[in-house]
Amino acid sequence: MNHTRLLIIGSGPAGYTAAIYAGRANLNPVLLEGLQPGGQLTITTEVENFPGFPEGVDANELMDNMRQQAERFGTKMLPNVAMKVDLDARPFKVSLDDGSEWTAESLIVATGSSAKYLGLSDEQKYMGQGVSACATCDGFFYRKKVVAVVGGGDTACEEASYLAGLASKVYLIVRKPFLRASKIMQERVFNNEKIEVLFETNTLGLYGENGVEGAHLVFRKGESDERKYDLPIDGFFLAIGHHPNSELFSPWLKTNEEGYIMTEGDSPRTNVAGVFAAGDVADPHYRQAVIAAASGAKAAMEAEKYLAQ
Ligand code: NDP
Repeated sequence: MNHTRLLIIGSGPAGYTAAIYAGRANLNPVLLEGLQPGGQLTITTEVENFPGFPEGVDANELMDNMRQQAERFGTKMLPNVAMKVDLDARPFKVSLDDGSEWTAESLIVATGSSAKYLGLSDEQKYMGQGVSACATCDGFFYRKKVVAVVGGGDTACEEASYLAGLASKVYLIVRKPFLRASKIMQERVFNNEKIEVLFETNTLGLYGENGVEGAHLVFRKGESDERKYDLPIDGFFLAIGHHPNSELFSPWLKTNEEGYIMTEGDSPRTNVAGVFAAGDVADPHYRQAVIAAASGAKAAMEAEKYLAQ
């Protein structure tokens, strides 16, 4: 059995920032980096809105810098995933994917969120064969091809714009008659002649013999002028938001109906003393790197206070 005063679960901006603060407070934290070190930002390209980088910064570089900064102040990084937790035990118990066990006097949950899918059986059927939830990871395979992106938020617009730089044509499939994305992202989409927005359109399924060859779509589903049609495409990208990675903790921690961990007011304190939540796993509203980083800092400061008691 291994023991630490503070175990941080997650390696996005929240986890690494919590580690920087906790490290500087001499807590010698242990951080579980999980399956995707650096978190969700590492699957985007450039970050334009993290303060301090007037020309933008490469997302991987930003995360790598945060990691190095956390290591510099004594954080022990483990390339592992938490498989099981026991928040009734004192100290808390955490079992990792390599079979090792850790006990911790305090925990910071910074497990972020994961991409949502529509829930169509065809998404599973064509996963990795034309279906993707990450344009920057898989866009390369669609050079000079026709792709569709589902969603009307900032992510969908960003992914459509990115794919337009590679593909010959990008359809943006939006279920409402308008985009939810910020004005600047909307303008980028509307001004890009390779992108065609299909408003009031839903996806019913996908088809193809060898991977995705098209999508079954419906315009104005359920309305009197409903129209079903097939759209030939080579790639189908999901950008319809994320769900919080809180399942492991939900037997103990209060979550809202979408699964986001609920904290006390604007503090990172959860309903279990000594357990703090930071970043997107506890943020149904803003979901920004800078906000996740700030909440990681708050969580570390609260953990320090808790451990001093
Ligand atoms: P959002 O929740 O903002 O948008 C999700 C989009 O997917 C909406 O258009 C929504 O439609 C649509 N959608 C959801 N479920 C379905 C479904 N079942 N079928 C069809 N469409 C569906 O998520 P994002 O990931 O875009 O953004 C999350 C946060 O991150 C936001 O705050 C955003 O501003 C931020 N962000 C900022 C960026 C930047 O500043 N550079 C880049 C990317 C994200 P509807 O509108 O009808 O609900």
